[in-house]
Amino acid sequence: MTSGPHIPQERRLVTAIPGPKSQEMLVRRSEAASTSLGMAIPVFVAKAGGGVIIDIDGNSIIDMAAGIATVNVGNSADRVVKNVMEQVQAFTHTCFTVAPYSGYVEVCEALNRLTPGSFKKKSVLVNSGAEAVENAVKIARAFTKRPAVVVFEHAYHGRTNLTMAMTAKNIPYKEGFGPFAPEIYRMPMAYPFRWVGDQENIAQEALEMVTHKIEKEIGAHNVAAIVIEPIQGEGGFVVPPIGFLPGLAAYAKAHGILFCADEVQTGFGRTGDFFAVNQENVEPDIMIIAKGIAGGLPLAAVTGRADVMDSAVPSGVGGTFGGNPVACAAALGTIATIEEEGLVAKAKAMGEIISKALESMKSKYAIVGDVRGRGAMQALEFVIPGTMEPNTQAMVDIVKYCQQKGVLLLTAGTYSNVIRLLPPLVMPDHLLIEALEILDEGIAASNAG
Ligand SMILES: *Cc1c(COP(=O)(O)O)cnc(C)c1O
Repeated sequence: MTSGPHIPQERRLVTAIPGPKSQEMLVRRSEAASTSLGMAIPVFVAKAGGGVIIDIDGNSIIDMAAGIATVNVGNSADRVVKNVMEQVQAFTHTCFTVAPYSGYVEVCEALNRLTPGSFKKKSVLVNSGAEAVENAVKIARAFTKRPAVVVFEHAYHGRTNLTMAMTAKNIPYKEGFGPFAPEIYRMPMAYPFRWVGDQENIAQEALEMVTHKIEKEIGAHNVAAIVIEPIQGEGGFVVPPIGFLPGLAAYAKAHGILFCADEVQTGFGRTGDFFAVNQENVEPDIMIIAKGIAGGLPLAAVTGRADVMDSAVPSGVGGTFGGNPVACAAALGTIATIEEEGLVAKAKAMGEIISKALESMKSKYAIVGDVRGRGAMQALEFVIPGTMEPNTQAMVDIVKYCQQKGVLLLTAGTYSNVIRLLPPLVMPDHLLIEALEILDEGIAASNAG
């Protein structure tokens, strides 16, 4: 079975963006839905699959967002659709903590197998990335009997009260929403492009700063968990240098701190490894998983060492909808799709096409300060030429240019100056190449100023 997309894999514009039907819906949207909700592209979706989104005016747009890395297997992937249809017809929900069903257990078994570490693992399923982060912290505190949680500059962990405290960026995520949860401690991030110290020694310098701060400002014996995204997502696809993650994991281990990888955005093949921590053979005590797990259906998980995962009191974790059977069926279809279609290797191959194109853009255009990322998770950081100063205007102009040409791009970054690429892993090469060519044109136009 191949999950060949059922809609033509082409970029095709039949109206301006947005077209008249989308414009009508935009009016209704602004009347009916909160204006506090963001919107990356002002078109309404009719269908999506493979590497394209078709809007209600009939425009076929290259999808470089994949629903923020949720549809790594593409929209409406065959195995996901089939599993979901069968499950919906059988039963839609009983609540796993009321009357259990096998799909939940099968997803746990798959996650325990797929996550790094040969030790015995167990899982809990929840509804969203933020809820998974919250549960990881609850479990880490229950296990260690310690209060403090260490997080990093540029981190993004979600929008609930605890996860807002863990997220770094104020506007838009935190502004007006405090007070925030206590016992969250933010550490310097090894951010190579903006590192002010020795460029040859970033991992070591950053590790020294972090461990010094933990010891002097918190006390290692008070720390339950170090929570980190192996490649930061909303923060701008910041990739720490080799050695930083293993160094943190080793420090955590030496001090009885649980090392928790927030792989919500990096997981499920995205970076060219099944999980981003695989790159350096890091084995977290707890893995936090969401976005790409269920082909776009709401599902998230905490997977970790069995002794850790069993440490909360019975019924201490759970929730009404967590691990809904339809979402579990979708997850099993997603995992089968990734494994049977070799999508992890596909992400790596896409990464080679993307890196080559981005390096060329960096060499041609002075506004491109940095390009970085791995596999199908890469980004460009824009600066005022000849400086390190963030160039937000360039980012805005380029995204707009690409939208007008039928390419959907997402932004990111603490300084709002990053364009990030998150194409579905099933995108055909010709669309990826076409999207990168349009991005190049958009940068050229902005660079010329
Ligand atoms: C998106 C994201 C979250 C939050 O996930 P939600 O499903 O939106 O709650 C947490 N951590 C990371 C790294 C993310 O990218």
